[in-house]
Amino acid sequence: MASITLNHVAKHFGSKVAIADIDLKVEDGEFLVLLGPSGCGKSTLLRMLAGLETVTSGEIDVGGRRVDQLPPSARDMAFVFQSYALYPHMTVRRNIAFPLIMRQFKWWFHIPLIGGLAKRRVERSPEVSELVERTAKTLSLTELLDRYPRTLSGGQRQRVALGRAMVRKPEVFLMDEPLSNLDAKLRSAMRAEITRLHGRVGGTFVYVTHDQVEAMTMGTRIALLRDGVIQQFGTPREIYTSPANTYVARFIGTPPMNLIEARVEGEAIRIGEALLPLPVRLLPAARTAGGGAVLLGIRPGALRIASPSEADGLSGLVSFVEHVGAESVVAVGLARARTAHEEEDQVAGEVMITAPGYSELAPGAAVTIGLDLSEAVLFSAETGQRLSGEPATAN
Ligand code: ATP
Repeated sequence: MASITLNHVAKHFGSKVAIADIDLKVEDGEFLVLLGPSGCGKSTLLRMLAGLETVTSGEIDVGGRRVDQLPPSARDMAFVFQSYALYPHMTVRRNIAFPLIMRQFKWWFHIPLIGGLAKRRVERSPEVSELVERTAKTLSLTELLDRYPRTLSGGQRQRVALGRAMVRKPEVFLMDEPLSNLDAKLRSAMRAEITRLHGRVGGTFVYVTHDQVEAMTMGTRIALLRDGVIQQFGTPREIYTSPANTYVARFIGTPPMNLIEARVEGEAIRIGEALLPLPVRLLPAARTAGGGAVLLGIRPGALRIASPSEADGLSGLVSFVEHVGAESVVAVGLARARTAHEEEDQVAGEVMITAPGYSELAPGAAVTIGLDLSEAVLFSAETGQRLSGEPATAN
């Protein structure tokens, strides 16, 4: 097991900056998820860790040892790819045993007949066969050991790829979107599988994905990247409840966090005509709001369709409703009171509400929305950074 430290790590491809200047410390035994949209640099970062890509500048340490100048083979890391990269002409057993066979590699393993016999001998040696059997059992592959990859499902192939990584007993497991080729049901089963694997084998895991659900369910911490820059590094809970900026707020959560244009007025917040008292928790943040214009960040579950007489409600018109089984997602265009020269109320932005059960609301219905501000957050309308109530730069 090993901690990983990145010190000012950058990667440029010609004039393209793939990774800007990253500092990161991953603790021993952590499950770090590198999350972000396509092209944000997460695979490049993982490949630099593995040694498949050079660093343009900066330093990578693993377990206190500098590794950025070492070849991949000297780094004691196992890489699991999105495409399983199994050998099609080898059985599952041989695929899993392969790294162990290669450890005992001799030049004459290349000679067809003699090499084949020698490899089989290593594969059948007690220490190798026991480890392969044990690993196969852990991953529920025992029945499949004598099959070939082409006869396996995507999930089974991915488990073989994991098995091949596990037998090496590496200090660090690196995984690049290993579940992206699987269907939704299998993905969720494999998510649980990999999380259990992490619990069982220990080791430090670094896992790349663009899927926020994978990040939230598997990671002990998440580094959310955008254009080669880390937007936030924290636990799934921190990232969900206290997003560092509006980008993070909108990236995590389905539907994403609503960002409502608002204005701080003393200890209250004005949204259109409504003036809502702020919870005490938000007062320090509200005080730092400068000119008063803010974005109120509120999750869809903290909004509800209220009775028209609700004192602090917002009014709006339903624009669409989606029924997703246990709950409904209702999109509402918020009304802004008309000004002197406007004939009708104007829409001041749309919010998403998750309502339990099957909503009977139809597009065009006039509704009143109640807000629960207990977990809301405030962002600067100017910079998009979360207002924490602390000075922007701490000394
Ligand atoms: P995806 O999820 O689509 O794989 P990613 O977040 O993993 O995306 P990277 O593959 O790390 O993104 O790429 C980051 C940026 O660097 C992209 O803009 C990409 O086009 C660029 N890039 C990656 N590899 C190279 C290369 N060999 N030469 C030039 N540019 C590259």
